[in-house]
Amino acid sequence: MEFRLSEGFALEMDAKDPLAGFKDRFYHLEDSIYMDGNSLGLMSKDAERTLLRLIEEWKVLGIKGWGGGKIPWINYADELGNLQAPLVGAEENECVVTGGTTVNLHTLVSTFYKPEGKKKKILADELNFPSDLYALSAQIRLKGGDPDEDLVLVKSRDGMTIEEDDIIAAMTDDVQLALLPSVYYKSGQLLNMERMTKEAHKRGIIVGFDCSHSTGVVPHHFSKWGSDFAFWCNYKYMNGGPGSTGSIYVNKKHWDEMPGMAGWFGNNRSTMFEMRPEFDSAGSATAWQIGTTTMLSTAPIEGSLRMMREAGIENIREKSLKITKYLMYLIDEMLSGEPYNYGIATPREDKRRGGHVGVFHKDAWRINQALVAKGVIPDYRPPNIIRLAPIPLYVSYHDVWKVAQTLKAIIDDGDVEKFSDDKSTVT
Ligand SMILES: *Cc1c(COP(=O)(O)O)cnc(C)c1O
Repeated sequence: MEFRLSEGFALEMDAKDPLAGFKDRFYHLEDSIYMDGNSLGLMSKDAERTLLRLIEEWKVLGIKGWGGGKIPWINYADELGNLQAPLVGAEENECVVTGGTTVNLHTLVSTFYKPEGKKKKILADELNFPSDLYALSAQIRLKGGDPDEDLVLVKSRDGMTIEEDDIIAAMTDDVQLALLPSVYYKSGQLLNMERMTKEAHKRGIIVGFDCSHSTGVVPHHFSKWGSDFAFWCNYKYMNGGPGSTGSIYVNKKHWDEMPGMAGWFGNNRSTMFEMRPEFDSAGSATAWQIGTTTMLSTAPIEGSLRMMREAGIENIREKSLKITKYLMYLIDEMLSGEPYNYGIATPREDKRRGGHVGVFHKDAWRINQALVAKGVIPDYRPPNIIRLAPIPLYVSYHDVWKVAQTLKAIIDDGDVEKFSDDKSTVT
């Protein structure tokens, strides 16, 4: 792929982009280019429509919505799980839309973490999202262990990425479960989940993935890979709305496991309302639901999911790779030398890159503030990373071209000096 620096080239790319039409189905912030969809995806008209349908159903049906909604609410989590399944390569009933990301980690790890004798450790890495590490430590304590001893964190050699070989080397006899991210939230490195699954299984280790930074932008093939479990949030690349319900994947080979944090929504639907004292597992991913479906936080996901299925996850990935590469090209060509000094933290190889580009700069926080002042919405992660996510369904090549010009103008105009390095307002 040959890129050029001109504005005309960006416009040509947009004219040829088969996904360009989706941009108008989203609400955009006034006078802004939104590059933060890796933190909170924009609202689409499609998501709004399914949310408004739910509000109307509540208005006119009341309690009758559980059986009588367009999709009966009682089955909504399962129906959406099945709508999401093709995005992650899951089979029927291996996915369910339920809970929150960290809560789902707890319920899955409480099920699959079974320390026994010497085989009692959990393997993770030091670059994973902190919430995941807090939850893993808590799970170890709940089973009577000591996180200082039983939580093994693979170290990063460069502070940005994790070597897959280092993870494999850490899969020793005493590890019982490995929990890894699909895409690292700072650098955007994508792990080879198929390889991690295979290597873990060779050593009798259960493996699960946090796919918060990949679902909706990278295709997955959990069922083909045989991964044991996964979970992710639906408010980043899935555009499901702030704090929207998360998702769970449980490989069907584990459906007979007793959920570690059982609740009545995991019960077999046909006996659920007999209200028996003993749990009758639904015997599918449904069993990992805990309580009543959070309908208002779930409904927008339906519209968003249908739109993504219409676009096709392979097409989304194809554009994502092209547009992130284009962004890296512009930074390399225009902005890597003096006086700009921007660098790229994200792996260059397509196979090792998720949906965002991590840009580093010694004044990253001040540049982040200057970008916002100039109408570009990025986000900042300490100590020196600006994350830029050109979301395939709503960011154009021309937008990316303008973002690169803005990064340049901030340095040319001395804008950095206008902002403080006080980080108390980072979100
Ligand atoms: C966004 C994200 C989370 C968020 O967890 P919540 O429980 O939804 O707040 C967790 N893990 C990773 C890797 C994430 O990227």
